[in-house]
Amino acid sequence: MKERLSGIIWLITRKCNLSCIHCYVADRFKQELSTEECLRILREAAELDVRFVGLTGGEPLIVFDKTRKIVEEAYRLGISTSIQTNGTLIDRTIAEWLANYDVFTYVSLDGPTEEIHDAVRGKGTWSRTIRGIELLSKLDVEFTIVMAVSKINYKYASSLIELAENLGACSAAVIPVIRAGRARSNITINSREWITVLRKVSEYANELRFPLSIWCAPFALLVAKSPYVRCYSCRRSSVVDVDPMGRLLLCDVLDIAIADLRELRFSEALKIFDEHPLNIEISEQIPKECADCPIREFCRGGCYARAYIERGSLNLADPLCPRLADSLH
Ligand code: SF4
Ligand code: SF4
Repeated sequence: MKERLSGIIWLITRKCNLSCIHCYVADRFKQELSTEECLRILREAAELDVRFVGLTGGEPLIVFDKTRKIVEEAYRLGISTSIQTNGTLIDRTIAEWLANYDVFTYVSLDGPTEEIHDAVRGKGTWSRTIRGIELLSKLDVEFTIVMAVSKINYKYASSLIELAENLGACSAAVIPVIRAGRARSNITINSREWITVLRKVSEYANELRFPLSIWCAPFALLVAKSPYVRCYSCRRSSVVDVDPMGRLLLCDVLDIAIADLRELRFSEALKIFDEHPLNIEISEQIPKECADCPIREFCRGGCYARAYIERGSLNLADPLCPRLADSLH
């Protein structure tokens, strides 16, 4: 039987030391769980045999005491951890701590040059992030470079693969910016731009034999043909998204809360989630537009959050899908 709860993507904080133009968390959450509440939730997840917890934000290192306690408790419980960070707060002490607790680290780099990265994340961020990455590399912390692809940087996405390799990353990842939080439609890319990115990054990954993950775009299977490229579908996932207030969200970019872990035990919240009509809709139904698609059983309509945000329904196909590109634009 498929395991129910393999992992948690946990938006541990809404706070951040930067103000990136594409941030999907900005202004969305009113409160945050206390560290004690987080540890209680983690222990309940451990009882359900969760295998990994991915801490993201906001910036997890800005609430380092909370992040540290969760990671160390997870380590004690045998749960593997990762953090998604902008890298600017990584100093030697933090890098050593990440190494000691085997924390896989995802570092955001939104362009292959200072000019492009700083245009997205703010002046001076490139040099601080690169310094953090160099420390990770020096101390043998395993890390991936992640690029959020927008109108500002999509033309440079393929250069990031080589840069990630040169910086000592074990892989690279790309994700299209979605219209949530601070991100507006003037920076999100359209399907033609995203398809150009997918072709180029997968060609580069293949040429360099460098592992590349494509996040939140399962239809990439249609264009990214390389054994070095992976993509995933979230529609029947055993991973859940938890927000800074302790709610199980339908997806972490959508303000659709299904159950509240402050009020319920994890097992109870999970049961409510599994039986919720919206969860059943996204996991059981495939959009009609996808009926004759050769990869429909894998992709299942792509990103339902983007379909909801851009097209007004969870059960329409992903507006970035190449098969739909011509009919949508
Ligand atoms: S719904 Fe979309 S944004 Fe959310 S996890 Fe799935 S692919 Fe990613
Ligand atoms: S047609 Fe539907 S199932 Fe096929 S790739 Fe596009 S979104 Fe995915």
